[in-house]
Amino acid sequence: MEVADIVAQVPMTKLVVLVKDGNGKLFFKYGRHKPEYDYLRDLIEAAKDRSLEVHAWFVVLREGGEVPRGWLAENTRYAVVDERGKPVGWICPSHEEARKRVLNLFRSLLDEYEVDGIHLDYIRYPEPVMAKGCFCDQCGKEGYLNEEWVMRGVSHVDTLVEETYELVKEYGVELSAAVFPDYPECIIGVRQDWGKWVDQGLLDWVAPMNYTNIMSVFNVRSMIHVSMIPEGILLLEGIGKKSSVSSLSPEKMIRQAEAAVKAGADGVVVFSYGSLTEKDLKLLRIFRARCRFSS
Ligand SMILES: [Zn+2]
Repeated sequence: MEVADIVAQVPMTKLVVLVKDGNGKLFFKYGRHKPEYDYLRDLIEAAKDRSLEVHAWFVVLREGGEVPRGWLAENTRYAVVDERGKPVGWICPSHEEARKRVLNLFRSLLDEYEVDGIHLDYIRYPEPVMAKGCFCDQCGKEGYLNEEWVMRGVSHVDTLVEETYELVKEYGVELSAAVFPDYPECIIGVRQDWGKWVDQGLLDWVAPMNYTNIMSVFNVRSMIHVSMIPEGILLLEGIGKKSSVSSLSPEKMIRQAEAAVKAGADGVVVFSYGSLTEKDLKLLRIFRARCRFSS
């Protein structure tokens, strides 16, 4: 499908476009690297006429998952080390050099493309099933029953978000993040204290990935998220049309969108465009028109 067709169909105000995937692969021009097809450039061009925002979506710290890939494969000294001492395919943000590399990607993209914002995904340590935190020399080896060790990991992720905020604001664009839905458990599980990021005003909008087929879970999480968001920051509840933990009918997707807005969210982000059918798009268009009518 042509990008112009996609842009014409999207019943939303923001497009969040993947520019770096979970294997460290880049889909934008970076130094001498050129993507096979520069869809980001075409989408920005096509979105201009429709006053549709384009946000560059980075899988930030995962580079390979089980094993290091991409840039991390050549730089395993910056990888997260699991409890058995094995490097895994995640960047450990305790290393200044590794953070510099990440910030360089953001800067290059912002120099090259007129996007409306940078969107952070996988801005955390791996899930405990992969590694119970990072046991590299910088992070230490105390283990997750030790508060200082856990909070040290949290502070490394915080530092990267703070540095990204400084950079992004130089360019006058927005900073946003996709975050774990279960707060504050995600502080322990993956060292992601996004409640602090919104309290400090580091994000312009946040999308808790409220991906579930269970309505009661969706509703309670939405209410908790609404209670966490200070004035001036947008809460866009993340809906998992199709994800690793959810698969929604068109009707259920809309029920969740309505529930999120009713709970007080500013809107929704649907994951992901590729999983949307004609019927989904039609219902989302009606939903959006209704939201505008009622506000
Ligand atoms: Zn580490």
